[in-house]
Amino acid sequence: MSIATNLNSIQSSLPDNVHLVAVSKTKPIESILEAYHAGHHIFGENKVQEMVDKYHKLPKDIEWHMIGHLQRNKVKYMVEFVSLIHGVDNYKLLMEINKQAQKHRRVINCLLQIKIAKEDSKFGMTVHEASEILKKYKIDDLHNVNITGVMGMATFTDDEKQIQEEFEYLKSTFDVLNTRYPELEIISMGMSGDYQLAIDCGSNMVRIGSSIFGARNYTV
Ligand SMILES: *Cc1c(COP(=O)(O)O)cnc(C)c1O
Repeated sequence: MSIATNLNSIQSSLPDNVHLVAVSKTKPIESILEAYHAGHHIFGENKVQEMVDKYHKLPKDIEWHMIGHLQRNKVKYMVEFVSLIHGVDNYKLLMEINKQAQKHRRVINCLLQIKIAKEDSKFGMTVHEASEILKKYKIDDLHNVNITGVMGMATFTDDEKQIQEEFEYLKSTFDVLNTRYPELEIISMGMSGDYQLAIDCGSNMVRIGSSIFGARNYTV
């Protein structure tokens, strides 16, 4: 199956309100171009350096999403072009994104990463911390960042019931925050193996890599 075929069959199976982020991490420029020429313009990367390299080599109307864990000292390399940062998990990071975005007179959209997985290895915050961050960024008037929703990663497991519970937890976290902050709109959850379940649980942004581009040579 070609990348274009995979992409089109996934895209056509998604409800209209669901955004597709094609996760191109570890994949070469040619593969991204193939998806681009098939009409897809939203790509996700999890490493800043890799995303910057690809940005310079590819058409400038691509929307780049940073989906990985982000260190504060790396923010400056991508603020010029990144369009959505999925993994904001602390206030200091948000302040740094704001500061760097200001230098480029940009407003950068961000998602708060919520810890939904039971396993300890996953990053993210509690609903209480998310609510505190939303409150604080309004008070501090961080003009150059815009929190538009939440993101979560389920436990890596075959137990579908557990994954469903974790997705439902993210949806309910979103609903709680959304009552106070009606401008929130994005729920980023679901990957190749579980995106249909994620959509059933309320996802409106799925991040799909291997089902589009094929298996990666190493897991990241
Ligand atoms: C790699 C990755 C994905 C995509 O995973 P696939 O299983 O290849 O679809 C989605 N989200 C994040 C945060 C990732 O790092």
